[in-house]
Amino acid sequence: MALSSNLRLLLNRIVLSDVRKKIRFYSDNTDALNEQKEIDPAKDRTKTVPVETSIKYLQSKAYQQTYGNKPVWVLYRRNHKGGLAPKKTRKSCVRNGVISTGNPCPICRDEYLILDHRNTKLLEQFVSEYTGQIQDAFITGLCQKKHKELLVAIERAWDQGLLTFDVPFREYDYSLYNKNIVSQ
Ligand SMILES: [Zn+2]
Repeated sequence: MALSSNLRLLLNRIVLSDVRKKIRFYSDNTDALNEQKEIDPAKDRTKTVPVETSIKYLQSKAYQQTYGNKPVWVLYRRNHKGGLAPKKTRKSCVRNGVISTGNPCPICRDEYLILDHRNTKLLEQFVSEYTGQIQDAFITGLCQKKHKELLVAIERAWDQGLLTFDVPFREYDYSLYNKNIVSQ
């Protein structure tokens, strides 16, 4: 008797959980439909802007008016609680094709800035003019996702010779390697 009553309880629970799941499923669906109607066009990132338009945009008057001659990230300030910024920037500013934060990073906030190895005018803003190294995300404020894209784009541009880079000059004493050569 005890076994059968337990079984009945189990069955009841399974049926109930199924009904709950269905209810949740339908309610989720209606929420998604409502959200789709309310997307702000300024925050919509589902459309992909081609690199060619981004390259043209960087030479346009509109770009000059917004950024001037400064790098894109100079006037950006990270938004965080407390006096000290967290060591890592946020993972991504875009969720499901929509900007999910009030203070998106300098690349995510402007949809016409595309990280690509051909877009050298944008990439060279992220390379330090003093050390020749790629600026850290802590300084530029880029989200982790865009920072990784930046690293790939700059490495590719260096590889294809689209961006220049300095090789440190080293003096060698060749007589240490080959005694027939007299050191100068
Ligand atoms: Zn971002």
